[in-house]
Amino acid sequence: MTTEHLKSLIRTIPDFPREGIRFRDVSTLMVDPDGFTEAVERMASIAPQDIDLVAGIEARGFLFAGAVATKLSAGVLMVRKGGKLPGDVHGRDYALEYGDDRLEVQVGNVPRGARILLVDDLIATGGTALAACELMEDAGAEVAGAVFLIDLPDLGGAQRLRDSGLDTHALISFE
Ligand code: 5GP
Repeated sequence: MTTEHLKSLIRTIPDFPREGIRFRDVSTLMVDPDGFTEAVERMASIAPQDIDLVAGIEARGFLFAGAVATKLSAGVLMVRKGGKLPGDVHGRDYALEYGDDRLEVQVGNVPRGARILLVDDLIATGGTALAACELMEDAGAEVAGAVFLIDLPDLGGAQRLRDSGLDTHALISFE
């Protein structure tokens, strides 16, 4: 499947969740058996190797992370929004365009020294991914790389990650 075909499976919804935002809806790619398989295989093939754990960011990131983890024979870790995980957690607050948010992981599920691959459906400003990286580092793990289905390069997030030294990849760009 060509990259253009893969890209054509993603639907754009105008004015969601707010007026002026063009939301890239990956659900239409996910329900397409060939599209989802191709996306996951490509994400796994461009990822750094020798990964112990694939960290997926809630919620769409979970689905890609789980599938990529099986290709890399790695475990899968949930990076959730604040207040959703039971037991002791590591947490990080981060700024969004409007307001703040929080990401958490369960203490003990991120082994010290583990090589982590970060996976999400889309990177925009990079605020979410950078907070997730800091969370892994707080727990004593090493973020070996990050893979996204979609990059919005105009928002500069992937570049921010690369500037911080992270091996960062995306399959598809929307200008
Ligand atoms: P960032 O923190 O890089 O600005 O935003 C990325 C996060 O917001 C990701 O977790 C991603 O799932 C979500 N996100 C922001 N805009 C979109 C969009 O247009 N489509 C999708 N599927 N997710 C988005």
